[in-house]
Formats: sequence, structure tokens, C-alpha cells
Amino acid sequence: MTAHPNSTEARDIRYHLHSYTNARKHEEVGPLVIEKGDGVYVEDASGKRYIEAMAGLWSVAVGFSEQRLVDAATSQMKKLPFYHTFTHKGHSPAVDLAEKLVSIAPVEMSKAYFTNSGSEANDTAMKMIWYRSNALGQPQKKKIISRRRGYHGVTIASASLTGLPANHGSFDLPIANVLHAGTPHHYREAQPGESEEAFATRLADELEQLILAEGPETIAAFIGEPVMGAGGVVVPPATYWEKVQAILARYDILLVADEVICGFGRTGNMFGCQTFGIRPDILVMSKQLSSSYMPISALLINEKVYGPLADESNRIGTFGHGFTAGGHPVAAAVALENLKLIEERDLVGNARTVGAHMQKRLRELADHELVGEVRGLGLIAGVELVADKAARTPWKNVGALGGLVNGHLQENGVISRNMGDTLGFCPPLIITEKQVDDMVDAVKKALDTAL
Ligand code: PLP
Repeated sequence: MTAHPNSTEARDIRYHLHSYTNARKHEEVGPLVIEKGDGVYVEDASGKRYIEAMAGLWSVAVGFSEQRLVDAATSQMKKLPFYHTFTHKGHSPAVDLAEKLVSIAPVEMSKAYFTNSGSEANDTAMKMIWYRSNALGQPQKKKIISRRRGYHGVTIASASLTGLPANHGSFDLPIANVLHAGTPHHYREAQPGESEEAFATRLADELEQLILAEGPETIAAFIGEPVMGAGGVVVPPATYWEKVQAILARYDILLVADEVICGFGRTGNMFGCQTFGIRPDILVMSKQLSSSYMPISALLINEKVYGPLADESNRIGTFGHGFTAGGHPVAAAVALENLKLIEERDLVGNARTVGAHMQKRLRELADHELVGEVRGLGLIAGVELVADKAARTPWKNVGALGGLVNGHLQENGVISRNMGDTLGFCPPLIITEKQVDDMVDAVKKALDTAL
């Protein structure tokens, strides 16, 4: 790139290593620097406006310019900018938020525990599960089953749970005690002519076979996103969760629902668990918890988890886990205000009504030559691109077409995210039908340009 050497772009290339980026390619193409946000829009350094169709990273429920969150942060900063929750200490934002989260949980939960990112929360879930097994005198019960294409984060444990190749190979992951089951992706994984229900039955049977082969007494937990996000917006087939849960119950296996994307309205209910009838023992949340204005994540744990954990901490003398900034008062205050806004403005209802409109409009793309499948629910959707509709095959290598169309889409003023060849759409929950129309028109144009 030819930007001035002191420009933000040039200095970015010189000093800044980006997440989830081809570092060598970045040296050539440089960054898209976003300077401002306004509702569902963001603006780059040149003044170009974009509909942020991914809500940042599936996260900004209330949009990019919510003054009430700024005020909540400012007033908490002035009152108590930091305190922690180690060794019996605490502060009211953490208590208020814990109470609120337990009260809105989709199933009965005992306690909330605070962390700073989805990865830390899933890492913590894994440690709590191991701690519990030890507490129960079942040290052999340590394996956790995740799924291929699942996304649970990037710490050593959570990246192991993640079921995507880029998170494993060169990092020497996954670690021991992590297993991956099949992906509930009907379009890609079902056999020809297999109905959704038959596919769900087969996946559940395969899960049971995996459990039996490993030894049920060695399996501690199963973790899954209600709808897979980063794996390509994979909506599970009808009856999948019901069948999976029946098997977990049969072998006394805990269920962790990773609601980091689905939580707080995304699927048209407060939690994805409600949309799919999931009854988790641990519920993990982040992102829309604070609309990502501040980093915060949380786990809700039920009595089956809390009871043994409390006993073990009593035996040892402490629950030897915690992050300095876990439950940070400013982040907790922002999260509380954010939840208030979600309720006051009925953003969950908006995810249902505007979501239905978005699903309908995006499905109009299904006939396009480059579109293999459009899937989603509420305000989350994936448009999977193919070079050959009948054979469902990609163009060149996987991701090439997704990258190309995503580039055109960005030129047309919409920021999406291509997960391989699937374009993700997960806009702020405040989006209007008119803004959805603008977004879909831009997608159509980008697809036509790519033909
Ligand atoms: N779990 C899910 C379902 C996610 O989508 C993500 C991030 O996208 C994570 C966990 C990890 O969260 P973080 O990036 O905050 O560590």
C-alpha cells in the first residue's frame, strides 16, 4: 500500500499484529481503520459508512453509539473504577449483575461467575468441570466432547474445544481430554435424501457410540453453541438438541451451553437455550452481555456444579481460580445498563420481527447462481456460497469465493464476515427493516459483481 508513512494505516502495518489475519498479506493490503460508530453503522478513516452486518464480532446489540452505556461506564468509573472479587471481597455492580443473570436464566441456576472473554469463560467451564469430577471422587471423568466446527475460543483449553483446523494444527492442539463429535450441518453433512430428523438421529447415535467407545465413566461434559456461529452459522436440524440431551442424561454427562453469540436475544428469545429447549448445567455468555462496550463474560452454574465445587474449595481452603478483572465494576455496570436497554426496547422482540424479515429477504438470494444455502433464525444468518450449485463445490479453494464476495460487499458499504465460503449476517439487534433491505440489496449487488 502507498499510504503516507505516518498514516494510521502505515503505522498499523509497522507495529500491529492482527488477530485472525494473514500477517504477510496484511503487510501488503493494510487495515480497514474504523474511526466512528453510529447506530448500526460504522465509518472508516476516509469517511465511508458501512452497515455493520456482524455487529462487530456478533456482539453490539444496542448499536455503536449508545449514550446510556457511556454514562453507565462514566458514573461507575467516577465512583469505583476498579475493585476485585477475590477472597470474600466484592462490589455492588458484580452482585447486581449476578442477581440479574440468575433471575433471567433459562433454567434454574445457582451462581454467576465472572470472566473477561468467551475464551476465558469456556476455559473456566472446563476447569470447573474437572474440579467437580475430582470433588466427586471421579478423577477419571475428565473428557469433554465438543463438535467439529464448534467455536469456543482461543485459549489453550477453549481452542482445544473449538473444532476448526486453523485453531489446532500449528498450535499443537487440541490438548488431551477433548473429543470432537459430528457437526449438525444438514446441508454439508447429511446423506443424500436424509431428512433433518433422520440426520439428527444419526448424529445422536454417533455421539452415543463415541461415549461408549471412550467409556461413559470418562466423559464429564458436552459443550455446544445452540446455533454454531464462527463454524458457518449452523442451525441444528429439528430434534437434534432433544436427542443429544437424552443421551447426555443417560450417561450422567454435564451440558455446557455456549451462548456467547446466541445469548441476549440473537435467536429471537433471550437465550438460544429457550429457542431449542436446551437445559444446560453451565451457561456461558459474553459479547451481547455488555454489547461489547466493555470486555466481560460470565458463567451461570447450577447446583450440580456449584455444590461439589463449593465442597472442594472448602476441603482445599479456596477455589483457586480467578482473574484480576473478572466482574470488573465498570464492565458489570455497563452490562447491567445494556440488559436494561435490551428489555426496555424489546430488542428480543425486534430480533424476532425484524429477524423474520431478514430471514425472508436473505432467502430471496437462494436462487442466485452462487448461493448454495441460506440458513438462520432471528437476527443471525449464513449465506453459503458455491461455484457449482448442484455439486455444492467451492470455487478454487474453500474461502476464495467467500473472500471475493465479501470484498465486493465491503465496497458496497456492508461489513460481513466470510467463514470460509459462508457470509455471516448478525447485525445489531436495533436494526430496522429498511436497513435490512439496504443490506440485502448490497449483498445481491456483490453476488452479481462476482459472477
Ligand atoms: N464462544 C463462542 C460461541 C464464540 O463465538 C466466541 C467468539 O467469537 C467465543 C466463545 C470466544 O470469545 P472471545 O473471543 O471473547 O474469547
